[in-house]
Amino acid sequence: MEHSEKSRFQYETAVCEEISCNLCGADSLYVLARKISSGMNVQTCMCKNCGLIFINPRMTRTEYDRYYKTYYHEERLRTKGKTSPKYADPAGRGFENAYQFGRALAEDFRKWICKGVILDVGSSYGGLLAGVKDTIRGVSVVGIEPSSADAAYANSQGIETYNTLFENFRNDKINSLSTVFCVQTFNHLLDPRGFLVWSHDHLAMGGTIILAVKNFRQQCRRAGAIYSSVQIDHPYMFTPETLTLMIQSVGFEIVYMDVDEHKKVSVLKRQKERGMSMHHMRFVVRKTRPEVLRRDMKKLKGDVLFFRAQFFLPYLKLYHVIVYGGWKRYMQKIGLSMLIR
Ligand SMILES: [Zn+2]
Repeated sequence: MEHSEKSRFQYETAVCEEISCNLCGADSLYVLARKISSGMNVQTCMCKNCGLIFINPRMTRTEYDRYYKTYYHEERLRTKGKTSPKYADPAGRGFENAYQFGRALAEDFRKWICKGVILDVGSSYGGLLAGVKDTIRGVSVVGIEPSSADAAYANSQGIETYNTLFENFRNDKINSLSTVFCVQTFNHLLDPRGFLVWSHDHLAMGGTIILAVKNFRQQCRRAGAIYSSVQIDHPYMFTPETLTLMIQSVGFEIVYMDVDEHKKVSVLKRQKERGMSMHHMRFVVRKTRPEVLRRDMKKLKGDVLFFRAQFFLPYLKLYHVIVYGGWKRYMQKIGLSMLIR
């Protein structure tokens, strides 16, 4: 992809580090891709033991903190090819969209949203929390947001928001949460399993997490490539299988699971009309007695060849062609157009 303006963000000079698998701790990895669509030399790996996909090596926590506080918005717009000022994300519109989304989510997940203090991790302009607060009586809300501008806007709208990376967040006052929202944020976390463990520690018994996470396999299948589905601000990427494993490894009970992959186009279209996303996985998980449920990651067999095979390029492309109906063009491309006459 060509970008019309040069980025102020210089990935080449950022300090990076090698990391182990966040889910099982293993160091043995397959390399899935060595570049990402913006041209940066970012390596995407898959753990040979559990199948978790992540960027490695990756920027350090300090670098990510700096990235979010300074470059995040302009980089997102640049990656989308929208560098003109008219595309600058107006906070008001962002707030309003998230407000509607928050209301829709609160309606859909009402029975799992507990009364008490609700936390949104990666709360942006605070719109989602405002929507939830206006839909469900008797809740108070608080957000954590790494972007300075977003957090300032949220606070100006009366949504209490801490401006920090979740990983740097320390607040002893927050210790008995009723529900944690992690909507389109889980990919951004530098220690997603640590977030689940933290939530488990800070949720009241019976408390829930509402998760909406991009399904990396579905993204890759749609794009027909891996490198174009990786972004620098998504250090971890999940499939339904690895997300399930991570949730179970912490001891949460999965009470609801909705995966958009394999859904009919008409179903996805209806979802979009309701303001829902189309390439996600939505999970609701509940804190119950951990000793009964926690899954031991050491007991995994360490054989993820099947997962690995799902990300082989011909397979990704073929899936895309079959499911999304581009097969005529595909046959023409490979010189077999006579077969489709
Ligand atoms: Zn692993």
